[in-house]
Amino acid sequence: MQKRIKPTLLVHGGCGAIRKADLSPRKEKQFHTGLSRALKRGYEVIMSNGTSVEAVREAIICLEDMSLFNAGYGSVLTEKGTIECDAAIMDGSSLQAGAAAGLSRIQNPICLAEKILMESEHVLLIGPQAEQFARTSGMKLIPQNALITPRQFQRWKKLKTKPHSERDEYEKHGTVGAVALDQFGNLAAGTSTGGIMHKKPGRVGDSPIIGAGTYADNETCALSVTGVGEYFIRMSLAYDVCAQMKYKHYTLKRASTAAIKRLTKWGGTGGIISLDRQGHAAMIFNTEGMYRGMIQGKEAHTYIY
Ligand code: ASP
Repeated sequence: MQKRIKPTLLVHGGCGAIRKADLSPRKEKQFHTGLSRALKRGYEVIMSNGTSVEAVREAIICLEDMSLFNAGYGSVLTEKGTIECDAAIMDGSSLQAGAAAGLSRIQNPICLAEKILMESEHVLLIGPQAEQFARTSGMKLIPQNALITPRQFQRWKKLKTKPHSERDEYEKHGTVGAVALDQFGNLAAGTSTGGIMHKKPGRVGDSPIIGAGTYADNETCALSVTGVGEYFIRMSLAYDVCAQMKYKHYTLKRASTAAIKRLTKWGGTGGIISLDRQGHAAMIFNTEGMYRGMIQGKEAHTYIY
């Protein structure tokens, strides 16, 4: 007998050494509110018979538009003070994927990733050529300055004067992501990021690399990763979780935990949100905190620590 499908949506807003002392109660509330807004927006899509890809897109648009998170509006700046966003989305029912990297003129990078999934024969487009594709497929290009928040500009200025040895992990990253299981039993995953603060122009992280920061396969799970991307690319971390489920028959939780353990062993920091077709979910990280949340039914639950 077929089991009942449990429509589910998970989101994250990045992980790191989120110090309680640096997070005022007001700010903490803003994070919870932001995450639950994204969960509700994505879940509404699922409940009105939308697909998991659409739900992931909608939840991520919501997070990209908030200045709180390092993606879209509010992205961190490169060493040169420019914006270079990366994003990817993947459909677990078809293994179709779309991704874009090095974007500075796209309001919602996840929408371009979805366009590439839907309308292009390629998986990953980069820089001005990706933006050209966006333009020809009807998306509006905006001035780069429209994505720079006063907060990120100040952080960039401050960090510029600090020697590398004194910059800590908290100051560097962020990212947003979502994974969904829709009413048809299909999984999808998406990730969007400004990358790592003060990165070299041209640096691409794990988020738009299918199998590193983003992956979805109905046979195993959907996941979105956050943390220092260089580790995830070298470890093929997202696909590795799926592979452990597929070949070693690990449960979702065991495979996700094992991946974070391996990450720790290699000296990396980060977190994963993952979801399988039975509606099992995992949100695992080796940092002090990860902005994250889940909805499966009526209520959205959000967490930081
Ligand atoms: N993984 C992202 C990157 O390396 C950053 C992050 O998740 O914080 O670009």
